[in-house]
Amino acid sequence: MKPGKIVCVGRNYADHAAELGSAVPAEPLIFLKPPSAVIADGDPVHVPPDVGRVDYEGEIGLIVGRRCRRVPEASAWDCVSGVVAVNDVTARTLQRSDSQWTRAKGLDTFCPLGDVVATGSFDRANIAVTTRVNGEVRQHGTTADMVFSIPRLVSYISHVMTLEPGDLIATGTPEGVGPLSPGDVVEVALSCGASVRNPVVGGAPLAPETVHEGPD
Ligand code: MG
Repeated sequence: MKPGKIVCVGRNYADHAAELGSAVPAEPLIFLKPPSAVIADGDPVHVPPDVGRVDYEGEIGLIVGRRCRRVPEASAWDCVSGVVAVNDVTARTLQRSDSQWTRAKGLDTFCPLGDVVATGSFDRANIAVTTRVNGEVRQHGTTADMVFSIPRLVSYISHVMTLEPGDLIATGTPEGVGPLSPGDVVEVALSCGASVRNPVVGGAPLAPETVHEGPD
């Protein structure tokens, strides 16, 4: 599955905002990640040699199931067909040097995306996300820790732009972000069973024929 647009939420966990020295925003802070960054479970995350520090960010992803615009919070979940594990891989050095995050968030392979778990098969009010690097837990957070709830995020974003079936919303990362190095294996797992696990590689930029498709 290649998503349409990928809408990401920044600083949606207070402890994560604090670890980066940032304030919690008064309203959801949103940015876009290009669909060309998507890779599937098992595909390698490529860390280019010239971008500085590259971090994992494990997140709960929402797949939009129906077209929606200016949806109220009370019916926001009706627009969501499933959840996925997302790794919002971030070139942290570039993020700090740029006032817009397009470069830091948009590099090829910087959006590992697992398979979709359909809504209705889990408790949507209580989803946990855990990130492991080489099997060691680095991040753990739940929907209860979010600054802005999932219904609030869907409603807010749909008041900015029409959401279309297949769009992806990445709902922000909990505290514990840290760097990835070639040779690492990074896994993001949700309590509902969704997960995505990827090796990290370095070296020269990927040739076009080695650019990967997203999950089916
Ligand atoms: Mg993020």
